[in-house]
Amino acid sequence: MLRVTEIFRSIQGESTHAGRPCTFVRLTGCPMRCVWCDSEYTFTGGEHYSIDSIMAQVDAFGCKLVEVTGGEPLAQKEAFTLIERLCNDGFEVLVETGNYVSTTGLDRRAKVILDVKCPASGEAPRNDWSNLERLRSDKDEVKFVVADEADWEYAKKVIREHDLEARSKAILISPVFGQVNLEEMANWIAGSGLNVRMQLQMHKYIWGPDVRGV
Ligand code: SF4
Repeated sequence: MLRVTEIFRSIQGESTHAGRPCTFVRLTGCPMRCVWCDSEYTFTGGEHYSIDSIMAQVDAFGCKLVEVTGGEPLAQKEAFTLIERLCNDGFEVLVETGNYVSTTGLDRRAKVILDVKCPASGEAPRNDWSNLERLRSDKDEVKFVVADEADWEYAKKVIREHDLEARSKAILISPVFGQVNLEEMANWIAGSGLNVRMQLQMHKYIWGPDVRGV
């Protein structure tokens, strides 16, 4: 059984898959407490579903792209089995994970979006750096949620020290919603000489920042 906050169909709002129809499986619970977290409603509650029940709900939405997210999806051990089942059934599977739980054992067919924590989150000391060594340059993406210029400097240092331009398919720089001057961020990125991409969370602009299930 897995504890699930919500399963819904929408468009993917982030990553290189932004704009595509996508079913989201949002699992409940997270061992982290990022100060700017936008999904605190996943920390508690949720409903217990069997993997068969989750598969049936995902099937009913009819999207070939599925994202398993949270909370921290990999904090529940059975999430690894769910991901394997989704891959077996031919879904293209994205796993958005906060770089605290090891990705060892994750089905190799799933595509990882690794959310490396920057200092302003308050959780940077809990980054599992070994996850960066497991990235595949043909499918995995790295995300930095940036709250201020110090976070951007940190992201640049991590990108260079871990050679992330070569190790990953894409490096996503995402501002904390409503906290960063977007023009200023665009200028940081444009002048960096790094092969990174600025990303806005498309769903928050379409439906508003606090609307759930979209
Ligand atoms: S890892 Fe994600 S869900 Fe957990 S506290 Fe941080 S932003 Fe929120």
